[in-house]
Amino acid sequence: MAEILYLVIPCYNEEAVLKETALRLYEKMQTLIQSGTISPHSRVMFVNDGSKDKTWEIISKLYQADPIFAGVNLTRNRGHQNALLAGLMTAKEHADIVISMDADLQDDIHAIDNMIAAYREGNDIVYGVRSSRKKDTFFKRFTAEGFYKFMRFLGVEIVFNHADYRLMSRRALEGLEEFDEVNLFLRGIVPLIGYPSATVTYERGKRFAGESKYPLKKMLSFAFDGITSFSIKPIRMILVLGLLLFLVSLVILVWGLVEKILGATVPGWTSLLFSIWLIGGIQLLCLGVIGEYIGKIYSETKRRPKYLIMETLLHDMEQNDGNTRQ
Ligand code: UDP
Ligand code: MG
Repeated sequence: MAEILYLVIPCYNEEAVLKETALRLYEKMQTLIQSGTISPHSRVMFVNDGSKDKTWEIISKLYQADPIFAGVNLTRNRGHQNALLAGLMTAKEHADIVISMDADLQDDIHAIDNMIAAYREGNDIVYGVRSSRKKDTFFKRFTAEGFYKFMRFLGVEIVFNHADYRLMSRRALEGLEEFDEVNLFLRGIVPLIGYPSATVTYERGKRFAGESKYPLKKMLSFAFDGITSFSIKPIRMILVLGLLLFLVSLVILVWGLVEKILGATVPGWTSLLFSIWLIGGIQLLCLGVIGEYIGKIYSETKRRPKYLIMETLLHDMEQNDGNTRQ
């Protein structure tokens, strides 16, 4: 039986790419439908993450133009991960399988065939993994690969070079729904769901228009969120650091006493100044890391909603007459 496939695509200020993306995805979906791979009730669902440009207008027009297009409009910008989750949770109600991807089509859409094939082989989660990062800038490649390695070092189970291009079955999405943490880092959570999984490699292209919505600042904060949401190793490292410093200070104490007994009075201004700064710096650093975790606890305890949906545009399977679902 042909499954109902929903593509979920978060969009933030994507007016420059959206039409082209829609066109390419339309063709891809038609091919898949005509070959009987997926059901004709499959959809391409765009999630507007509080864009300030014409993104939502374009999505609404697409929805009116062809029933294959659907839209979810968030009340404001909540960030890529939350927008993606809003789309996944909406799609889950209608689809058998859902594939998430970016609006700029950096992810090769032809990997969809392999993903569906892997799903049919009994995998609930299929991770899209980049075969190379040749087209990324050196800086992006270096920081991104370093990040994956660092996450692994911290003991976080994460699929190397996999971003958010992945297929999930309905029951995997139901599993995802059970994780109600506020600090969302999907590529860390998804492996925790379990179920059989597979990977599909693809070549990642360049963003064909518009600018990256992940400037350095957002990238760093995303990486930091990922680390602190999944690992308490940094806190443990502080403990080890503290212990080491304590041992060093004992050695220094002995050394100081010996020097004093020998009568060698040291005008130790430099070393004193240096150690005050060093210890002060380390203490502030450690406090900062601890503060970061307390901040996480703070936002988790408030249980604020991760997103609010203002409007959903979807031609439903039963009512193919273009009704708007609110
Ligand atoms: N995005 C979003 N909300 C944001 C930032 C980004 O929904 O606040 C979407 C964006 O529209 C795109 C995806 O997240 O579909 C990935 O963003 P981008 O391609 O700019 O990131 P990069 O590929 O440069 O890492
Ligand atoms: Mg991109």
